[in-house]
Amino acid sequence: MRIKEGVSVVDIHPAIRYGILVINEECHKVVGRGPALTSLGESFAHSLQSLHYGVSFNGRKALEVDDRCRAADLDLDEFSQDEKDQIEEGCRARLGRDFDLVIEATHWHLEYDPK
Ligand SMILES: [Zn+2]
Repeated sequence: MRIKEGVSVVDIHPAIRYGILVINEECHKVVGRGPALTSLGESFAHSLQSLHYGVSFNGRKALEVDDRCRAADLDLDEFSQDEKDQIEEGCRARLGRDFDLVIEATHWHLEYDPK
């Protein structure tokens, strides 16, 4: 997995670290290499309620004890649509309901948002 310059992997929640590892492994299964990790909690491009910033701004009680980054953006654009479909299927099968995987136009957004 490549990490975009400026993205810090320090102080992220263990659950999102696990989620990123799952996506990386599924990419390796299908295409033999990982995605690019393009964002964690480092930029101010996300909405204030975003789990990229943990829970500092949204005040949800259940998460107040730990405000580390719980969201990641990954770039899989160098893979074909068929490869991305296979990777997505593998990820959804493994991540379970506490993770939300959102396929955006320019990237994949993953967040740990326990129900
Ligand atoms: Zn995101």
